[in-house]
Amino acid sequence: MKLADRPWEAPTTGPARAGADPQARDLPLDAHLHTDQSPDSSVPIDAYAAEALARGIPEIAITDHVDFDPRDPAYRYASFTDRERTVRDAAERWGPRGVTIRFGVELTYHRAWHEEAREHLARHRYDYVIGSVHEWPDSPYIRSRVRSWVEGRTVDEIVAPYLDQVIGAAQSGMFDTIGHFDVVKRYLHPFVTTAQLADRPDLYEPALRAIVEAGVALEVNSSGLRHLVGETYPAPATVAQYRALGGERVVAGSDAHRHDWFAWRLDEAYRLIAEAGFESLAFRRGSDRVRVALPARRVA
Ligand SMILES: [Zn+2]
Ligand SMILES: [Zn+2]
Repeated sequence: MKLADRPWEAPTTGPARAGADPQARDLPLDAHLHTDQSPDSSVPIDAYAAEALARGIPEIAITDHVDFDPRDPAYRYASFTDRERTVRDAAERWGPRGVTIRFGVELTYHRAWHEEAREHLARHRYDYVIGSVHEWPDSPYIRSRVRSWVEGRTVDEIVAPYLDQVIGAAQSGMFDTIGHFDVVKRYLHPFVTTAQLADRPDLYEPALRAIVEAGVALEVNSSGLRHLVGETYPAPATVAQYRALGGERVVAGSDAHRHDWFAWRLDEAYRLIAEAGFESLAFRRGSDRVRVALPARRVA
């Protein structure tokens, strides 16, 4: 599969808010970042560390891609050894300067490679593990296929294959966090709109329940704010729904693949987490599952 067929980060950067710096400052954590150890990023790790230092963000998680389908771009792209050494070395350089760098991963989940994923995580220790469902090679969400997939189907039928994989990821027990929960809306754009999905909160309920029951964290990923969908993954109403269903674990990340996307509108993800009633983020630092307090709300 060509990289162009799977544009994780298509050049769809939306307009910055007028007069505002779109990159956030003074937040405790950005928990989702891609470096040049991912096939879809060319950012050296030090660039993020420098951004973090300049912006008053004292902790970051490097979460480069690991894929298990040989047709996927991150399949054997960078070795565990190289990734770990790069991140640990940077952590030693930047720790004394006030930036703590965690060695994480974003593992692409699919039931078809559940065993490979389980074995990978059994053999390799990370500080923090995100499990994400992307548009796998045979999926109906591939750009060239999505229009015909949507045609003549109900919204329930359209999103079902995606949500089934999310439920698999949650129930696998492998992950600290489910990455960008409703990213299927990005793959479906513009054939299914965010408004259509917002009208059907029942669609997501079984997957949200699976996440709640598994005790895995729900990520609020701000990258959607720079994509054509123009809202976080998941949307604010879905974060509130997760909370209403008993969800207690949320975390926030910018999913940057460029240095100037570091902490991109991450303050908005933090704000909606606070507005949904959460007081802290759920994170893992190696053997420690921790709570990271939300910053005190600033009064404008
Ligand atoms: Zn992802
Ligand atoms: Zn990512």
